[in-house]
Amino acid sequence: MHDMTAEHQLEQVRKDFVANASHELRTPLAIIQGYLENLLDNDLIVEPEMARRFLMIMRKHTDRISHIVEDMLVISRLESGVANTLKIEPFRIRSCVKDVLERLESVIQNQNAEIIVMMPNPDLVMHGDRFYWTQVFFNLVENALKQNPCGGLRVEIGCEEIGQSIRVWVSDNGVGIPDADLPHIFRRFFRVEKHHSQQEIKGTGLGLSIVKRAIEAHAGTIGVTSVPGSETKFLIMMPKESH
Ligand code: ADP
Repeated sequence: MHDMTAEHQLEQVRKDFVANASHELRTPLAIIQGYLENLLDNDLIVEPEMARRFLMIMRKHTDRISHIVEDMLVISRLESGVANTLKIEPFRIRSCVKDVLERLESVIQNQNAEIIVMMPNPDLVMHGDRFYWTQVFFNLVENALKQNPCGGLRVEIGCEEIGQSIRVWVSDNGVGIPDADLPHIFRRFFRVEKHHSQQEIKGTGLGLSIVKRAIEAHAGTIGVTSVPGSETKFLIMMPKESH
């Protein structure tokens, strides 16, 4: 009985994923189709300025489709035979975080955000797949920046050894996540309703589910707490040498 229930649930998750993915892809596709038809049917190609504007909008929405597809591929890779998906090697957490901050440098500067790195041991080493850890830090820090464009943002990235574990966290003092949404935040395609209108193009809603799957693939756990306006904290616990 138990097995059948688990199987049924898995099937339902798969169906929901396909339904959500199709829905997310359909919107940008419909927009691209609309502009293409307009260009072709009304012969607007001869008006370079308008044609250019239409093409720029189309490019923005093609980028969005690629982003969604890329994220879905990462999730599916993490979900299929995780053992051989990960390339485990030792790396310094500090240098992985440095790479991520370099990639986000222009956003950080534009927003005038304060970034604090709290690593008492700068040589602390993680045994894991650096590619996925880069993605974990990138998604968490980018989220903090993305959700808080209004200035005065402080983001803290930290890690420390505690006994046989490594504790890693990313926290910010931004808008936060309402209590009611916290249990759903790692679900695929989930986005906090009230954050939507702030952004012209929303995220894919896949970032945090990639983060959670990547950490679980490394035998770690992740949780989140949030006091809006004060502290939103993603806390990761990793066994020191699980691999
Ligand atoms: P998205 O692509 O929308 O960023 P995620 O899975 O990364 O998708 O995040 C899901 C939702 O969680 C976001 O849309 C946002 O509403 C909320 N969220 C994530 N991180 C934060 C944060 N640091 N502060 C406030 N809200 C956040």
